[in-house]
Amino acid sequence: MERKLFIPGPVDVSEDVFKAMSRPMIGHREREYSRLIEECVENLKKLMFTENNIFIVPSSSTGLMEAAIRNCVKEKCLNICNGAFSDRWYDIAIANGKNADMLKFEWGDAPDPKLIDEKLSTNEYDAITLVHNETSTGVTAPIEKISRVVRKHDVTFLVDTVSSMGAIKIEVDKLEIDVCLFGVQKAMALPPGLAICSVSERALEKSKEISNRGYYFDFLKYLKYWKKKQTPTTGAISLLHGLRYQLDKILNKEGLENRFKRHEKMGRIARKWSKANFDLFPREEFSSNTVTCVRNTMNIDCNKLKEELYNRGYVFSNGYGKLADKTFRIAHMGDRKIEELKEYLETINEILNL
Ligand code: PLP
Repeated sequence: MERKLFIPGPVDVSEDVFKAMSRPMIGHREREYSRLIEECVENLKKLMFTENNIFIVPSSSTGLMEAAIRNCVKEKCLNICNGAFSDRWYDIAIANGKNADMLKFEWGDAPDPKLIDEKLSTNEYDAITLVHNETSTGVTAPIEKISRVVRKHDVTFLVDTVSSMGAIKIEVDKLEIDVCLFGVQKAMALPPGLAICSVSERALEKSKEISNRGYYFDFLKYLKYWKKKQTPTTGAISLLHGLRYQLDKILNKEGLENRFKRHEKMGRIARKWSKANFDLFPREEFSSNTVTCVRNTMNIDCNKLKEELYNRGYVFSNGYGKLADKTFRIAHMGDRKIEELKEYLETINEILNL
């Protein structure tokens, strides 16, 4: 039985995307490959609202989180931590031998720009990390306000948009994001395996002064090859075919603004349902349009619900880590249709007699 994935990634991939991926193999030093990555990059710039260099790597998103740290942290970074993935960025910094401090917020809270400003005013840091959309808690950070604060200081702004890019408008250049990264298996609705980032000139200049950038994810190596319209290593060619197709579909068939609106609508539907039957885990104003984190106020048995949904053709998502029993999550991102979300919520109503 095929099951619809209501987990926050990977998400369902449309049949036509799979079809676009099943093209004959090409060589990664051939002209067709250069054209393929050029066309992807051209459209990624539109998706991300940026003129910065864009690198596409065969990796999951965590690889590029590590790359951002290795290439862009010189002395010490500040990690804004309000959930599992923003905490991960601190762990990565430490694992790579960087000095780092956590600026902690409660799970479910959004980062407070005022406290970020205070911390950066110590002038201890040359980089700062932010997770735009905390998938573990369903919180979208107020990035415009945070960006205004970050820009007052001379720090490199590293932003994870893993579960928001392609669903929520993120204007990279306007927000002056130095490194903006994401994977393709969430709001982009592609199979996992590609990670993408934009890197500002400023960040590239800085990385020249940083040693131990590593080999596989060295931004300067990526830049050198990009100048020849190549990649340092073999690209994930079938996924790149899928990406080119999906970008065209997003930009020219659905349209970016329509895609953002569909996600806003799905967010509203999931929040309304959550408030009517349970409660929201985050404050509503920071509640994400791609993943709704529901506070389990009725103390339902999430594993039992998961099993019942599985038997009816759905994959349900428990809460993340320490929130496993206290919350559960409803993902509504990618190519998910509004009607499909409504059907899913109705199925939960039936199972729980709501
Ligand atoms: N950042 C965020 C916000 C995520 O949601 C995830 C995965 O769920 C990651 C990073 C890590 O992504 P990956 O498993 O592709 O490395």
